[in-house]
Amino acid sequence: MKDIVLKRIRDEYNQKKLRAQNEADKIKEMIYKKHPRLEELDTQIALTSIELSKTILTKPENIDEILLQIKRNLDALKEEKNEILKANNLTQDSFKPNFECKLCEDTGYLENGNRCKCYKQKIIESLYDMSNIKHRLKKENFNNFDISVFSNEKYKDETITPKQNMYNVLDACSNFCTKFDEDVPSFLFYGATGVGKTFMCNCIAADLIERGKTVIYQTASNLIEIIEAHKFGKINETQFSKDNYNYLFECDLLIIDDLGTELNNSFTNSELFNIINARMISDKKMIISTNLSLNELAQTYSERIISRVFNEFATFKFFGKDLRWESC
Ligand SMILES: [Zn+2]
Repeated sequence: MKDIVLKRIRDEYNQKKLRAQNEADKIKEMIYKKHPRLEELDTQIALTSIELSKTILTKPENIDEILLQIKRNLDALKEEKNEILKANNLTQDSFKPNFECKLCEDTGYLENGNRCKCYKQKIIESLYDMSNIKHRLKKENFNNFDISVFSNEKYKDETITPKQNMYNVLDACSNFCTKFDEDVPSFLFYGATGVGKTFMCNCIAADLIERGKTVIYQTASNLIEIIEAHKFGKINETQFSKDNYNYLFECDLLIIDDLGTELNNSFTNSELFNIINARMISDKKMIISTNLSLNELAQTYSERIISRVFNEFATFKFFGKDLRWESC
């Protein structure tokens, strides 16, 4: 995740800032045209403020008296301005453009100098072709999770009902998000298609992105493509670059969806192990979701992967009737 991507995003933010400034200028012009007295007042307020600073700097003999007079002028000007604003249903905010991100006003940086979460996630979206994720996450998040779709009747040999099971999963997942910076394990979701695994992955992604975490969400097959592009130099600079690969190790949360649908061979096996292992060592969390049973997983992947995952991930089984939530 290095220079090229960062530069592209920095440029994008500079454009955004410029656009916002232009928009703000236009808005101001429009307001001034309608209320010319406001423009006069703003000019006078600016000039009076300069006079105030000059007086403080030059320290004339009767400074207190002069300052008091300037201050009175300034207050009177501001009061008149506020009255005009109020009478016309305007506020200082009326002069601001409609920023995409209210937190950083589209600058990418917060007042304390830290990168805004919109900026961080932008880096990831740009790297991993996740531009559609925001749209999806708006629909699939904890607030929209409808537990009532799960049946409360016994399902096959399971000891609890799908609904009871989903309450447990939901509880664990929301705990995973709220305690993300503390000691929570990585998660493995397994079970048949259409029982809510992808939906739950989306809920977690949405929640953590909202908390300012960097989240990469990829299907196992995409992940393998990224790895192959990096290892074998299938050049597609815009998406599959070296930076792409590195960030799989560095992001706060890596979600691997649909494990088991990717092409599986000793290369992919060892590369997957490499990522899982490296992330575990540096205490970086993952969510892995798969349609395979635990038994099938054990048969598909190398013992090294399986022992890592089985020993260190909290495992959740999803079961019940196919709710057609998942596309595959
Ligand atoms: Zn922002």
